[in-house]
Amino acid sequence: MSETERTIVPSYADPEVEAALEAVRAVRSVTDAADPRPRYFIRTFGCQQNEADSERLAGLCSAMGYEKTDVPGEADLILVNTCAVREHAEKKALSVIGQYKHVKEEKPSAVIGVGGCMVSQPARAEKLKKSYPYVSFTFDTGAIAAVPSLVLGAIRGGKRTFLLSDEWKIAEGVPIRRESRHMAWLSIMYGCDNYCSYCIVPYVRGRERSRSVEAILDEAKALIEDGTRDITLLGQNVNSYRGRNGEDIAELMHRICALPGDFQLRFMTSHPKDASDRLIEAMATEEKIVKHFHLPIQSGSDRILKRMNRKYDRAAYLERIDRLREAVPDVSVTSDVIVGFPGETEEDFEDTLSVMEKVSYDMVFSFIYSPRAGTPAASFPDQIPHEVAAGRMERLLALGDAVSKERNDRFLGRVLRVLTEGVSKQDGEMLTGRGAPVRPIHFRGNPSLIGQFVQVRITGNDTFCLRGELV
Ligand code: SAM
Ligand code: SF4
Repeated sequence: MSETERTIVPSYADPEVEAALEAVRAVRSVTDAADPRPRYFIRTFGCQQNEADSERLAGLCSAMGYEKTDVPGEADLILVNTCAVREHAEKKALSVIGQYKHVKEEKPSAVIGVGGCMVSQPARAEKLKKSYPYVSFTFDTGAIAAVPSLVLGAIRGGKRTFLLSDEWKIAEGVPIRRESRHMAWLSIMYGCDNYCSYCIVPYVRGRERSRSVEAILDEAKALIEDGTRDITLLGQNVNSYRGRNGEDIAELMHRICALPGDFQLRFMTSHPKDASDRLIEAMATEEKIVKHFHLPIQSGSDRILKRMNRKYDRAAYLERIDRLREAVPDVSVTSDVIVGFPGETEEDFEDTLSVMEKVSYDMVFSFIYSPRAGTPAASFPDQIPHEVAAGRMERLLALGDAVSKERNDRFLGRVLRVLTEGVSKQDGEMLTGRGAPVRPIHFRGNPSLIGQFVQVRITGNDTFCLRGELV
């Protein structure tokens, strides 16, 4: 295992995970007998939730006795974790899966499995079954715990399996092998009930379900004891988190912050209709919560927000931002925006630009609308031509960068608490870290500081990153 990785095995497992662990042991007896030990390779597409799921897949692969490789051609087990949020992500995954055909040709014993949002759509799973005969199995987002038995079936030469679960549950107890030593994703809930008209997520990740406070606290405690300094609570809409006794996200965060240890806490994503005063209050009062709020607006036009089924309007969104800035004046605010949603007029688009200027976002993640089969918006008659959407996107990006650069300026000259993440990829002499600014912070320092909180004076603003010096 590399120095940056670690596996955490939860102390409790649900009955179906216990059953999965049986299959883990059966595969292990095969991998233990092999010399050299077989290797696994995981390719991940998409969002943080997929990254977190891949860490659970990696935990299972390790438990099954596979060693990690970064080279697909060396792997005996290849798992692809796909995304379906935009067409581009699906095309990319299919093209990568296509390349693995050669791996299978050169090593016929290699097992290839595909999971994630793309294959949670029956039509896509069917396509893989028909057109990619070298794929041994697919598994949907609710079936991660079933992977060991799928692997076992494949290495025993059984039938190809294309698994679509009929119910989405929470599977507690899957081992997790995390990529980073000091930062961790911590899923607190799964699925989504919001049905925004453009979005595939509720169809491929199932109904919203929250983990228990106890399970989350146990995981957070184990992480902190293991040296984690930065925990991000994950969910499609963490604001609607509900524990078994009605605990909300604010209470959950207060309880995590009360755990002993030097760490910082983040959360994503929030839905503006549910961003509660209690959550804002928690951010204002808890020192450990990073002062960063990701609050996707998607569009600044009330007409479009309605067609998106977002259940808030521009005024309600701006009221939440005002409330947030009143309580946490220095807060960094980021957003997601969709450009070229069906029926978006020039005027609607300008409403989005004006909201960006008004809110003055630290960063905006922008996406050209991508029709997703099965979602209501895909059959809206007034789809926007790609050239129009692309032209708007260019204007939005230019404004986003200008606003972001201006926002970064507020940090110049200030001394910030920063978690040292690693050596900068661009310059081996520099370290990179993060704190309240959403942009990475680069500073000169000794790599022994990695994983530690340091004080950094901000000396420069390069829009996409900040420069600073150790104090
Ligand atoms: N649950 C999160 C939320 O509501 O903010 C977001 C989840 S989604 C994986 C991340 C972002 O992808 C969304 O906020 C939206 O901006 C974008 N997105 C979702 N569906 C899209 C589509 N069909 N076309 C383009 N962008 C899309
Ligand atoms: Fe998709 Fe809307 Fe759910 Fe976010 S809240 S995952 S955009 S349906």
